[in-house]
Amino acid sequence: MQYEAVIGLEVHVQLNTKSKIFCSCPTSFGEKPNTMTCPICQGHPGVLPVLNKEVLNKAIMSGIALNCSISKFSKFDRKNYFYPDLPKAYQISQYDKPLCKNGFIEVKKSNGEIKKIGITRIHIEEDAGKLIHSEIKEIRESYVDLNRAGTPLLEIVSEPDIRDAEEAYLYLITLKQRLKFIGVSDVNMEEGSLRCDVNVSIRKKGDTNFGTKVEIKNLNSFSNVQKAIEYEIERQINEVEKGNEIEQETRLFDPEKLITKTMRKKEEAHDYRYFPDPDLVPIVLDDNYIDNIRKSMPELPESIYKRFIEEYKIKEQDALLLISEKEYVDYFESACKENKNNSQKIANFIISEVLGVIKDKKMEFKDIKLNPSEIGKIFNLIESGTISIKIAKEILPDVIDKDIDVENYVKEKGLIQVSDTREIEKIIDKILSENPKNVEEYKAGKTKVLGFFVGLIMKETKGKANPQLVNKILIEKLSK
Ligand code: ADP
Ligand code: ZN
Ligand code: MG
Repeated sequence: MQYEAVIGLEVHVQLNTKSKIFCSCPTSFGEKPNTMTCPICQGHPGVLPVLNKEVLNKAIMSGIALNCSISKFSKFDRKNYFYPDLPKAYQISQYDKPLCKNGFIEVKKSNGEIKKIGITRIHIEEDAGKLIHSEIKEIRESYVDLNRAGTPLLEIVSEPDIRDAEEAYLYLITLKQRLKFIGVSDVNMEEGSLRCDVNVSIRKKGDTNFGTKVEIKNLNSFSNVQKAIEYEIERQINEVEKGNEIEQETRLFDPEKLITKTMRKKEEAHDYRYFPDPDLVPIVLDDNYIDNIRKSMPELPESIYKRFIEEYKIKEQDALLLISEKEYVDYFESACKENKNNSQKIANFIISEVLGVIKDKKMEFKDIKLNPSEIGKIFNLIESGTISIKIAKEILPDVIDKDIDVENYVKEKGLIQVSDTREIEKIIDKILSENPKNVEEYKAGKTKVLGFFVGLIMKETKGKANPQLVNKILIEKLSK
């Protein structure tokens, strides 16, 4: 490979505040068009926007979570452009004095390499409205819905440190994970609360100057981000090999054909004529304010990871899997509260059984109705010999989407383990007398037959026999 790619990502994240960034309208989604609006977010002249403090706090938290320095002084600017979804013809954003600067994300590549990707800046801005175009061909009309106008956004701009599609993907999932853990956004690309534009250029390996970059828009999933990057790198290499120059332009990704297409060239690029918004005061923060936010922040994934290994003594790979989703972390910790001595078993059970059942039933983790404390209680029942792990696994598909008491459930269904020695003896006697050949084999030294007997006994008792007792009695009887 003679070429290397240079990639920088611009990510927009919708903050999950209850009200909009500069007015008190709700940010609720899916409402009737234009019902969640007021003169401020409709862009009437003469109105006065006021910054929502919750937006500021969540943006500061995000900056801290992404290792940025938080500016003691930042301000709002008007980004001027005309488009029908933006009635006031400017977006309130931050230009030369963003709230957060100089952050980074570290990712671990599949080859084991740790890669540090710089974050140039994070700034706060407002979202625009939405245009709805008539689906009926004869009616060539478009409508505007301003419910989304004024929704708070973060724009997170990376340094051009990314070199391939894998690094871009890892950067995005790490960014998403961290923002999810601190609870500032849903960060869902499919639902539009995370949007990503990709900048790609190529250069000869060893060159220190950057090539001309192309910006790609219209990416609606992490997998499409990867596909767009891979396609675009190929395309640019082909152009250069043909002796053509790369033109600075914005391209659109086509999710059907998996290619990028020209949207606008450099000469059509906007001149935004930024200037400070005279209606909003600058944001001036002191150390105390920033420290208080830092102290009250929810725990970040790597700290949870360390705690899981040190406090709960679970395996590193299990801790890593559990921290991949905030919901797993919360579920695991709540389950462990109920049963302090079986953390590793509970982790195993959640990772292989709970996640497995969810996959089989095509459920989402958030659809689980079974209270995590019941998972802890299941292990109490196993410890006391009331049920076997086998029964625990068997009942899971049925109980997982029910808010029930597992102990009552196993009692009602008659799933309590048979720990009555005499009853087990009776069953073993029956099985042994029915299989004299296998008994001979065992006595002749073929101890593997034990598993065969255990299987038959479990079948006979529908899995309810206490396995330790079965083993003990079986060996006793066979050794006679
Ligand atoms: P613009 O002024 O076009 O918005 P910026 O300098 O603000 O450009 O960069 C926008 C994004 O593009 C950033 O994420 C940055 O890392 C990335 N970027 C800048 N130059 C290049 C390049 N030559 N190749 C790839 N990405 C680049
Ligand atoms: Zn409003
Ligand atoms: Mg820029």
